[in-house]
Amino acid sequence: MGKIISIFNQKGGVGKTTTAINLSSYIAMMGYKVLLVDIDPQGNATSGLGIEKDALEYSMYDVIIENAKGEDLEVVKNSIVKTVVDNLYVLPSKVELAGAEIEITFNEDREKILKRALKGIKDDYDYIFIDCPPSLGLLTINALTASNTVLITIQCEYYALEGVGQLMNTINLVRKNLNKDLDIQGVVMSMFDGRTNLSIEVVEEVKKYFKGKVYTTIIPRNIKLAEAPSHGLPIMLYDKNSTGAKAYKELAQEFIELERDE
Ligand code: ADP
Ligand code: MG
Repeated sequence: MGKIISIFNQKGGVGKTTTAINLSSYIAMMGYKVLLVDIDPQGNATSGLGIEKDALEYSMYDVIIENAKGEDLEVVKNSIVKTVVDNLYVLPSKVELAGAEIEITFNEDREKILKRALKGIKDDYDYIFIDCPPSLGLLTINALTASNTVLITIQCEYYALEGVGQLMNTINLVRKNLNKDLDIQGVVMSMFDGRTNLSIEVVEEVKKYFKGKVYTTIIPRNIKLAEAPSHGLPIMLYDKNSTGAKAYKELAQEFIELERDE
């Protein structure tokens, strides 16, 4: 049975998309069938996996607009594209998706459109990751409503916990009103700089807040991770020996081990 996981933090630039691309690709490499759903109009996960946006016939925009009218499995299947990684597929997004968010504002089931769209393909995959936009708008609410769990990404910086209260508030609101079983999958600490005490302190602080939910594997700040998307490649195909690659591979292994323990 497919598990749907939202990669979420309403702050931008905290490593959500980098985690979406690289965690998905290593889990796919381990033999699981994975779909990465890009619901950010910026489409960074789409381009970061080498998908040519202008060449796409369908994208998340069409998925949202068509499924707003009622279940439309055909448009979902037609939108999904293969990536350079075996077992990894993408439901791509383009900037026009921002318009869809406005178009669905007055739809009766506006928070449940993505859930409806993924229903028919959920079980074709082992894992479906949703790369959320950096906002608390309707697209993010759709992602959280469609998901079994949330994977939170936090950057090792001074204001790391700023906004986390609001983030938890949103999760709790979704639980109360739209998706009562929404669980926290785990917390990924990203852009760790081992040379600074600050990074170390931030990890301790976040661990205290999210008791037992923070992954042991911490993602270091690594230039190769920042370069890879401009080549349209996940880190495993761009520089598999980099510290960033090793960390995401380890994170994927830890993720799967914890899943087996469930
Ligand atoms: P978000 O999706 O939360 O906005 P991104 O994953 O796009 O965040 O990361 C923001 C920027 O930081 C991007 O330019 C990305 O390439 C870079 N980046 C992300 N993680 C790392 C890392 N571990 N080391 C170095 N650069 C990173
Ligand atoms: Mg992003």
